[in-house]
Amino acid sequence: MNNKTFYIETYGCQMNFADSEVVNSILMNQGMVPVQSAEEADVIFVNTCSIRENAESRVWNRLKEFRALKKNRQELTVGVLGCMAERIREQIIDKEKLVDIVVGPDAYRDIPNLLAEVDDGRKAVNVLLSLEETYADISPVRTSGNGVTAFVSIMRGCDNMCSFCVVPFTRGRERSRPFESILREIDELDQQGYKEVTLLGQNVNSYKHENTDFTTLMDLASSRHPEIRFRFSSPHPKDFPEALLHLIAERPNLCNYIHIPAQSGSSSMLERMRRPYTREQYLELIAKMKKIIPGVSLSTDIIAGFCDETEREHQDTMSLMKFVEYDLAYMFAYSERERTLAHRKYEDNIPEEVKKKRLTEIIQQQMSIQEKNNQKEIGQRHLVLAEGFSKRSDQQLSGRTDTNKMVVFDRENYQKGEYVEVEITGCTSATLIARPIAKSSIGRFYAEPAYA
Ligand code: SF4
Repeated sequence: MNNKTFYIETYGCQMNFADSEVVNSILMNQGMVPVQSAEEADVIFVNTCSIRENAESRVWNRLKEFRALKKNRQELTVGVLGCMAERIREQIIDKEKLVDIVVGPDAYRDIPNLLAEVDDGRKAVNVLLSLEETYADISPVRTSGNGVTAFVSIMRGCDNMCSFCVVPFTRGRERSRPFESILREIDELDQQGYKEVTLLGQNVNSYKHENTDFTTLMDLASSRHPEIRFRFSSPHPKDFPEALLHLIAERPNLCNYIHIPAQSGSSSMLERMRRPYTREQYLELIAKMKKIIPGVSLSTDIIAGFCDETEREHQDTMSLMKFVEYDLAYMFAYSERERTLAHRKYEDNIPEEVKKKRLTEIIQQQMSIQEKNNQKEIGQRHLVLAEGFSKRSDQQLSGRTDTNKMVVFDRENYQKGEYVEVEITGCTSATLIARPIAKSSIGRFYAEPAYA
């Protein structure tokens, strides 16, 4: 396998991107060499997502494109990783002859053996889910990305079994990674010059290793690296720890931004979704967040058109979003997934046009809320971490505020990876426009009474 080149194309959630970095490390330890395009690769891996139907269709289309490559290079190896590999394993090999290797999210250590099987002319599959695997001893290798912000996975799997969700079937039972291994990875990132870390898990509140729960882990990580900013994704409203809110309020490098998935604003719908909280309990949690962390920025996930959704339940979702005034929302129409409880027990009976109409209403309302929220930012000062050039011009830098809002400002003498104090001068519903004031740091910026 020495010197064979490999290319990984990653789809889906941040967890998948973090997993691709683990696979980078496993293959490079075998002497393989990462390349940036499929055309240069001896081995192509597609790390896939199964959360919605269209996520899988994108992968099928991409695999068809690789068929052309394989026609000209018979020795080319094509593999499928991730949730699709776990969900429809054999079907991939049977349906798509060009695929040689299928590996589920808990079997990446086995890839070198599986590649050896392919070299011997056999198709290779390993989709065994594990109760222990966290890849704790593997240092992920980041071959893409901006070199400033990084994802660190702290746990795998999910036990929540929301009725619409395929994740528990593709990623297995919950297990937490040893906190020493997480802290070691963050130390390595600090040495490599990274300035922001997002801790990842399907439900980070459930993190528990020995006596270390999620709040303790955030306390340990943020006190050890005061000039690294920390974010996390995703928590669950059912058991969000109040202690964590107080820690975020007092610790300047814990971002005042919380992604808190609601999925629906209707208690009867939440019950069908197997989300163990009511509308009222969710709003109580939001009120607590806003009280303990003044100015906290909130985002959420929303599903439109789930089974049996009434117009009344849809309006409950609209009114909840209007009341919370999220700064950002990930909004999707319900996509039925096999093996889920909803697939087994309910009917996907909301017509596509009604799903679309409700989703459009939700998105339009959310865009106007975002525009209004961003208008309020004009004249405010923020500490922005410059992540790179703006999409529009290399004379401008872009980065995010502590509250996770995207900001664009003139480059002047500022560099990627620097914390820059800025003043907001304009906005769109998605981006803030700013003028840079001075190079700064977390310690310096939050020492100012105005921002403490
Ligand atoms: S919490 Fe629910 S929606 Fe999130 S990954 Fe787990 S089962 Fe899926």
